[in-house]
Amino acid sequence: MSGYRQIWVDGNPVGLRGLDEVFAALHTAGRRPGEAGLGVEIVAQVRRENYIPGSARELFAAAFEREYAAYLAQMESGGPARSRGYGTWRGYPREAIPWFPTVNEDACNGCGVCLKLCSTHCLAPTENGKVRVGDPFACVVGCSSCANICRPKAITFPPRSMLEAYRQK
Ligand code: SF4
Ligand code: SF4
Repeated sequence: MSGYRQIWVDGNPVGLRGLDEVFAALHTAGRRPGEAGLGVEIVAQVRRENYIPGSARELFAAAFEREYAAYLAQMESGGPARSRGYGTWRGYPREAIPWFPTVNEDACNGCGVCLKLCSTHCLAPTENGKVRVGDPFACVVGCSSCANICRPKAITFPPRSMLEAYRQK
C-alpha cells in the first residue's frame, strides 16, 4: 500500500497517497529541485493515485517542488525518510487524528528553539529562515511542547478537548 503524506498547498493541508514513492524514485534517478518542469512532472505522477483539480495544477506543482527539496534535504542530512506508516493512536489511524501544529510564519522570529526541541521532524526550516510544518502526522498526539516554548506564540494547536472524541477502540 502506498504511503500517505500531508502537505500544504496554498496554505491548506492536503493528504496524498504515493508521494513518498514518487520522491524516492526521483531521488534514485538523481533528479534535483529547480529542474524545469519537475513540479508538473510530479503532478502527473501523483495524479495516478490522487485527484488534483486541473485548475490547481500550478499550485500543486509549486508545492511538490518545495516538498521534494525538503525531502532531499532530509535524506541528505541523514534524517529518517518516512517510508512507513504513521501508526495508530487509541486504535485510530494516526492520519485520522487532526492533531498537529500550525505555524504563523508572520509571528515566527526564526529563533529555531522549536526545531531543537522536537525530534520527530514534524517541523522544518523554511528557505527564509522561519519554520513550517513539514510532516504534520509525525507530531506526537497530545504533545504541544513546541507551542509552549515558542516565545512569540507563533505555534498553535487545536483545542485539547478535541481528542476526547477519540475513545479507545
Ligand atoms: S520557537 Fe517559535 S519563533 Fe522560534 S523558530 Fe519556532 S515557531 Fe519560530
Ligand atoms: S507538539 Fe511535540 S511532537 Fe508535535 S511538533 Fe511540537 S514538539 Fe514536536
